[in-house]
Amino acid sequence: GQKPAPDNRVTPMMAQYIEIKAANPDSLLFYRMGDFYELFFEDAEIASRSLGIVLTKRGKHQGQDIPMCGVPVDRADDYLQRLIGLGHRVAVCEQTEDPAEAKKRGSKSVVRRDVVRLVTPGTITEERLLEPGRANFLLAIARRRVSDTQWCYGLAAVDISTGHFVVSETDAMGLPAEIARFEPREILVPDVIHDDPELVGFWRETRASITPLSREGLDPASAERRLREYFGVATLDSFGSFGPAEITAAGSVLFYIEKTQIDSRPVLNPPSRENAGAALAIDAATRANLELTRTLSGERAGSLLATIDCTVTPGGARCLAERLAGPLTDPGMIRERQDAVEFLVDNADLRERLRRILKRSPDLARALSRLSLGRGGPRDLACVRDGLFAARELGLELAIAPNLPKELLSNAQQLQALRTDVADKLAAALADELPLLKRDGGFIRAGYDANLDELRELQQDSRRFIAALQTRYANETGCRTLRVKHNHMIGYFVEVPQNVGEDLLKEPFKDTFIHRQTMAGAMRFSTKELGELEAKIASAADRALKIELGLFETMTQELLNLSGEVALAAEAIAVIDVTAALADLAVRLDWTRPLVDTGLSFAIKGGRHPVVEAALKREGAAFIANDADLSGKDAGCILLITGPNMGGKSTYLRQNALIVVLAQMGSFVPAKEAQIGVVDRLFSRVGAADDLARGRSTFMVEMVETAAILNQATSRSLVILDEIGRGTSTFDGLSIAWAAIEHLHEANRCRALFATHFHELTALAERLPRIANATLKVTEWHGDVVFLHEVVSGTADRSYGLQVARLAGLPSAVVERAKTILSELEKSDREHPKRALVDDLPLFAAPMRAAKPEPAAAKDGLREALDALDPDQMTPREALDALYRLKSQR
Ligand code: ADP
Repeated sequence: GQKPAPDNRVTPMMAQYIEIKAANPDSLLFYRMGDFYELFFEDAEIASRSLGIVLTKRGKHQGQDIPMCGVPVDRADDYLQRLIGLGHRVAVCEQTEDPAEAKKRGSKSVVRRDVVRLVTPGTITEERLLEPGRANFLLAIARRRVSDTQWCYGLAAVDISTGHFVVSETDAMGLPAEIARFEPREILVPDVIHDDPELVGFWRETRASITPLSREGLDPASAERRLREYFGVATLDSFGSFGPAEITAAGSVLFYIEKTQIDSRPVLNPPSRENAGAALAIDAATRANLELTRTLSGERAGSLLATIDCTVTPGGARCLAERLAGPLTDPGMIRERQDAVEFLVDNADLRERLRRILKRSPDLARALSRLSLGRGGPRDLACVRDGLFAARELGLELAIAPNLPKELLSNAQQLQALRTDVADKLAAALADELPLLKRDGGFIRAGYDANLDELRELQQDSRRFIAALQTRYANETGCRTLRVKHNHMIGYFVEVPQNVGEDLLKEPFKDTFIHRQTMAGAMRFSTKELGELEAKIASAADRALKIELGLFETMTQELLNLSGEVALAAEAIAVIDVTAALADLAVRLDWTRPLVDTGLSFAIKGGRHPVVEAALKREGAAFIANDADLSGKDAGCILLITGPNMGGKSTYLRQNALIVVLAQMGSFVPAKEAQIGVVDRLFSRVGAADDLARGRSTFMVEMVETAAILNQATSRSLVILDEIGRGTSTFDGLSIAWAAIEHLHEANRCRALFATHFHELTALAERLPRIANATLKVTEWHGDVVFLHEVVSGTADRSYGLQVARLAGLPSAVVERAKTILSELEKSDREHPKRALVDDLPLFAAPMRAAKPEPAAAKDGLREALDALDPDQMTPREALDALYRLKSQR
C-alpha cells in the first residue's frame, strides 16, 4: 500500500488527514466525514479486506488514486467489533467543531478534527463490543529487581467497562499463572519484559493482544504521582500498601487509559491489592486442560463455568467467572463465602425472592462506565435507574432476614446505605420508550419540565396550524388533492398535481405560492406562512433538544457524584447474585458443603464430574460417583490409576481437581462428602498424545510442563498427571513416568493423581509408602467390554485395548489379526523377552483373510467346530459347554 507523506499540493483536508494519521501510526484511522467514518490509503485496504466492504477511491495523492472505504457512523460499533476482534486498534477521529464555524474562517478551511479515542481490545466499553458475563481486563506488567537473580513482578488489571481495578505481585515463576487468572484482553508489556528470553514463548502463546510499552512514564515516582492525581488523594496509603512494582504497573495502566481515552476519564474504583498467595495458583495449561472457562476447542459451552453459571445478572456472571479464575487459599475467607451460600441453601424462599429481584437488575456497572466516559445514552440512565431500584429492593429484602452471615450482611449494608433519590428522579424524568442516542431527543417524560412541555406544545401547535393551512389552501385553490408535505431538502411545501400547479403560477395565486420544484405530474410550492411555521418548529425543536441534553447532563452528573457508591452497590449486587446462584446450583444438583481446612487431607466421598454428569444427564444416563483419598499427615498421597481407555480415568482425575477449584472458590461441591486441606497450587497435565491443540513438538511440550510441576509443586499442591510419557518410545516413557512419580513422592511430597497405561508402574506401590493403586472396574459381557466407571483399589488385569478397538468400529479382520499378534507378543515376551518381535511376526507376510492350509486333518475338524460357534449368540453357560466340547475333540 501507499504511504501517505506530507506534500504541498495536497488538499487542505488531505493535509489534515495525513497529519492526524502520522500521529497515530499503529491504529486504523476512522476519519469522520458527515455520516461516515472514512479510511484512506493502507488503512482502507486493510479495513476493506477485514470487513469485506467495497474499496473505492477519492481524489489523488502525488498523482496516484487514494484508496478509500467508509463505514456509516450509526453502524460503526459492528465494524469496530470485527476490527478489534481481528487484533486491530482504531483511532476515532471526530469533527470537533460545527462545519458552519469552519466556513466562517474562509471557504478553503477544513472542519477541525481530532482523535477523541483510541479503541483497543482492552479499553472498549460499548455494550455490543463486550461479552456481558466476562470481565474485559487491560493488564499492565512491571518488574523490579529484588536480588541478582530475582525479579518481583507487579500486575495491575483494570476493567474500564466496570471500573474494577486490582493489583498484585508475584515472582517470575508465578507470573504466567497470575496473568492467566485475569484472562486479559490486552496486556501492556514494557519492552524489556517482552524481550526477556524466558518469557518469549509465553507471549507467543497467550490469547491476549500484546501492546508493547517503551520505558516512558514507568518509573515508580511518576507512576505514584499519576495514581494520586487520578484518584485525587495525597497518599495511596488508604488504598492499601503497595510494592513499587505494583505501583509502577498501576501507573502504566492509568497512563495507557489516559492515552486511549483522550479527554474522558472512566470512573475507576481505587486499586485493591490482592495478597500474594491469596489465590490458588493455576497456570494457563492447567486452566486449559481442566476447561475451567472454555473448552480445549475454545468454546464457552461445555466449560466448567458455563455448567455452573446460574447467575441472572451480567455483573454476577462476571463475579462468578472471577471467583472461578482465582479460587482462594485462606480457609477463613472460603468459609465466609460458604456460610453465605449455605444460608441461601437453607432459606429457599429468601433465595427465590432475591433472584426474582436480581432478574430485573441490569448491567449497572457498565452503564455507569459509559456515562462516565461521555458515551452513555438515555438507555444507560434507565439502566442505572433500574439497577438502583433493584439495589434498594435487595437491601430491604435482606434487612428483614434474621442472622445473615457476614458476607451477605456486609453487602446488604452496602445496599442499604445507598442513596437512591437519584433513581426516583430518573424514574420521574425518563420517558417509557427511550432512543438509543441522546441526540435523537424525546427521552424526557411529558410533565417533567415545564419549559420543555411548552416547546413541545409549540411544535404541536405549529403542526396543527400546518394542518389547518392545508385545508385553507385547498379551499382557496379549489384543489382537494393539495397536500402540505415535508422533506429535508426544502422543508414544508405544498404539493399539487401539475395542472393545478400551472394555475398557481398565475394571478391571483402567484404572490402566495412560490414555485420550488416540478416533479413528474406534480409541482411543489413554498409559502411565507409555511416558512414561518417551519422556523418556529425548528427553533422549538432545537431549544427542546437543548433542554433535554441539559437535563441529561445534570442527571448524569448527579449520578457520577455518587459513582463510588453506585459502583460498590453494583459489586454488592454481583456478590448476592453469585451467592444465590451457587446456592440454587447446590440445591438442584445435590451438592454438599466441603470442609476446607489447613491440613493435608483430601478425602472425597461420592465425587462427581459436574460437566460430564450434566452431559450424561442430557442423554438420560447416570454418572457413577467415586471416592478419592489422598490424605496425609505431613505429605500427601499419590494414587496411581491404571485401567482401560474409555474406562473413565481422565474424568476421575479432572473431577477431583474441579472439586478443589469449586471448594476454594467458596462453592459447594459435587460430592456426598468432602474434606480438603487447602491447596496452594493446582497442576493438571495430559500426555502428549491427547494434546492436539498445540503446534510445537508435543513431547517437548509435555516435558516442559512436567518439569514445571516437578520444580514448583509443594506439599500443599495437588498434581494431576494423565498419561505422561506417552509421547515417546515405551521404555523412555516408562522411565520418565517412573522417575517423575518418585520425585513427586520424595521431593514434592504433594497430593497427586497419576493415570497411566504403564502397568509396570503399579509396582511402585510396594516400594513407596504413600502410593496406592487404583483401577477402573470393567467387566465383559458376550465378549464385549463393559465399563463400570467405578474406581476400585488394585491394578487393571488387562488393557482391553482390542475390545475397545472393536467397539470403535475397527474392521473385524483387523481386530482378529491383532488378537493373533497380541497372543504371539505375549508368548514371545514370556519366552524371549529380548528377542526382536519382527522375527516372529512378519507383519505383512501373513495372509489376512485366507486361512493358511493346515497340515493335520484333526485340526480341520476343530476349525469347523470353532467356525460353527457364534459367541455373540451364546449365553455364558453355552459358551462354557462349547469350550468343553472343543477340548474333548483334541
Ligand atoms: P479414559 O480417560 O479412561 O480414557 P474418560 O475419562 O475419557 O476415559 O471417559 C470416557 C467416557 O466414559 C466419558 O466420556 C464418559 O462418557 C464416560 N464416563 C467416565 N467416567 C464416568 C462415570 N464416573 N460415570 C459415568 N460415565 C463415565
